[in-house]
Amino acid sequence: GDEVDVDRAADAARAAFPKWSSTSRTERADVLAKLADRLEARADEIAGLICDEVGTPLRTAQRIQASLPVTVLRSYVDLLSAGDEPERIANTMVLREPLGVVAAIAPWNYPLHQVVAKLAPALAAGCTVVVKPSEVAPLTTSILLDELDRLDLPPGTVNLVNGRGHEVGAALAAHPEIDGVSFTGSVRGGTAVSMAAAPTVKRVTLELGGKSANVVLDDADLDLAVKVGVSNAFLNGGQTCTAWTRLVVPRPLMSRALELAEQFAAAFAPGDPRAASTKLGPMASASHRDSVREYIQRGIDDGSLLVTGGPEVPTGFESGFYVRPTVFGDVDPNAAIAQEEIFGPVLCVLGHDGDEDAIEIANNSRFGLHGSVWSADHDRAMAVARAMRTGTVDVNGASYNPLAPFGGYKQSGNGREMGRYGLEEFEEVKSIQVKETF
Ligand code: NAD
Repeated sequence: GDEVDVDRAADAARAAFPKWSSTSRTERADVLAKLADRLEARADEIAGLICDEVGTPLRTAQRIQASLPVTVLRSYVDLLSAGDEPERIANTMVLREPLGVVAAIAPWNYPLHQVVAKLAPALAAGCTVVVKPSEVAPLTTSILLDELDRLDLPPGTVNLVNGRGHEVGAALAAHPEIDGVSFTGSVRGGTAVSMAAAPTVKRVTLELGGKSANVVLDDADLDLAVKVGVSNAFLNGGQTCTAWTRLVVPRPLMSRALELAEQFAAAFAPGDPRAASTKLGPMASASHRDSVREYIQRGIDDGSLLVTGGPEVPTGFESGFYVRPTVFGDVDPNAAIAQEEIFGPVLCVLGHDGDEDAIEIANNSRFGLHGSVWSADHDRAMAVARAMRTGTVDVNGASYNPLAPFGGYKQSGNGREMGRYGLEEFEEVKSIQVKETF
């Protein structure tokens, strides 16, 4: 696609807006419920495609990549079914109305989920949408659009433009007929979108990168914290925005933590992502593999302790975009590998000298997306969780909640996705002052 396609898509979405925005909540819930059923029916195909495109191990692709979009769609069916009484503030009735025509620009690492996390609330709110998936992993968005096409929506309600970011993405961000852009991707892409969007004063929601800290306090179960921490850091080959890429452990426990990290990292031997036993597939692209390997080399050059892994091609994987699962120990909190988002299977272990120091290390980042804290003492864990300048924190490995607001502090972005907070990103708020009681 190109800029001409963006014009056509934006015009089609604008033309569809009056009709779609006047549908009832029940009608919209019905569309989202049907879409969820249809994606669920094609889950194996979706998981297989993402395994091929991104290199996500097939089992992870089934468990997360194919199933999370269905969960998200159904969460919005539930929200729409829950009723919607206007708020009243003194003599004002506060209405929530659809934002208008919105663009959804998505990355490649969880390609269908990232699109659905925008599309579902946008449609639920009554917006019409132009979707631009990542050029690296666009295929499952085409399945999504095929299924939407069979649902008999007003023509133009959802539009797909494939293409490159600097061309199609930039044209969407700047377009005068688009009222809002929801962008997930890199800081570089997000700032470009914000700048392109500024002259038209459209709303911009950004979900950007992360360098999340997994803080282990001295009373925690170290074995469990490191085990869960390594799995989290290496999920989807480390190509996860929320990955806990900095493991922050009490300094006296550093050598034990490194032993454990090495042991658990060994379970992430690179392998064919289609094989059932594989936990670490290839990186999504050759250029991305090169970038991850350069960061590993940089860690070595900067003097960090290489515990396991390294920049070499893993033995037996000379073809394909494979990287060795890598752990660095005793890393300086200001080192490049502790500050920059590597987006590969690279874990940095840092030492702390107590809770205050751990908080300072965790917050020593331009990012603020996610974090984790482990302690046997709930109040102590909560105090650290509160002090972390991040949009989400997991305490003692608590599970992900798809209804909870998700988003970043600092350069990890602005705005929130998922659940009710995700819906509000696609709504305008109107105050109507009335004289009589209502
Ligand atoms: P990217 O920024 O390169 O691309 C993301 C999307 O933006 C793609 O569709 C791309 O075509 C488009 N794009 C790129 N430049 C653009 C521009 N100038 N104008 C408009 N659109 C543009 O990111 P990526 O490599 O696809 O994804 C990886 C990044 O995404 C990582 O930084 C990761 O942390 C982040 N991410 C964040 C979240 C989150 O929810 N916070 C989730 C997943 C990924």
